[in-house]
Amino acid sequence: MRLIAAACTLVIVAFVAVFGAILLHERTIADPAPVAQSGASTASAPASEPVATSPITTLAPAASRGGLLTQAPARPAAPAAAAPPAPTANASCPGNPNALGVGRVVEVDTTGGPGFGFEHFKSHDFLQPGEVVLSFDDGPWPRRTPAMLAALAEHCTKAIFFPVGKHAMWEPGIMKQVVAAGHAVGSHTWSHIDLSKKSTQEAKDEIEKGVSAVRWAAGGPTAPYFRFPALKHPPELITYMGQRNVAIFSTDFDSFDFKMRKPEQVRQAVMAKLKKFGKGIVLMHDFQQATAAAASDLLNDLKAGGYKVVFMKPKDSIKTIASYDELILKDQKLPTVSDRPTTSVIRTISE
Ligand SMILES: [Zn+2]
Repeated sequence: MRLIAAACTLVIVAFVAVFGAILLHERTIADPAPVAQSGASTASAPASEPVATSPITTLAPAASRGGLLTQAPARPAAPAAAAPPAPTANASCPGNPNALGVGRVVEVDTTGGPGFGFEHFKSHDFLQPGEVVLSFDDGPWPRRTPAMLAALAEHCTKAIFFPVGKHAMWEPGIMKQVVAAGHAVGSHTWSHIDLSKKSTQEAKDEIEKGVSAVRWAAGGPTAPYFRFPALKHPPELITYMGQRNVAIFSTDFDSFDFKMRKPEQVRQAVMAKLKKFGKGIVLMHDFQQATAAAASDLLNDLKAGGYKVVFMKPKDSIKTIASYDELILKDQKLPTVSDRPTTSVIRTISE
């Protein structure tokens, strides 16, 4: 009897087990979605493999869709940015909640060589009250230009650089950092001489060698923007820049930072003039020690003062003149056997 009872119990247990298994199996097939959603069971993975691969293949687009959606509400904050990416600080500067950012991006059509900067050119008054264009001359220079770049990056903001051709040839690595950071790079002659004291041909040579040198050092397209050394503008060269379709940048006010030794003086000078004029294209020098040292604090001051940076993005890049491209390389080149371009000799394979 005991044997029969034991056998019966075994049969019942076996029946319950088999029935239960069938029930479970049916549930996992019938309800893949709840299982997948709850993430409770990876055991059903083989049954839902086709389902499982689709989240993986759609993961990136889904994620990017999510990214766009989360950005979408922030977009209306920058309606003027029909032109390329220069989102406002809060959207793109997560490490710095008090970042200056870029308030507005304007695209500049340099056809005919328009002039900017009210000290000399009055025709284009495009800045609103409180708007500032940052511009830096005479670089690139070791330590100072990188310090300036670091401060600008910390604030996710953009500026225009007007490098000297010779300096660019000496520091092509720094020049490329400026370009890589997304700033506009114009030029400022080959050797920073006062063009009003030169013959027209000599002056044109200075301008074009500077353009070619900066373009070479930048290793890519540069802006059709030019600033005359010491803001001396010989009329025939204004005409020439017009024919070259290069915009001329004077300034709305000069910081005179090159006369200053202490960063505090640069800060005070810029902020005082901004307060007086209310807006403007500011001329500073990344070449200057005091300015580079003041950069971070100055950008904080601008933010605290409620100023907005406007980035002047060139519509086109500058076209260099081939004979000057050759000239600057000939001047620089030592007589080696190889004429291969650097890009075919040195190649970055890891950064
Ligand atoms: Zn200069």
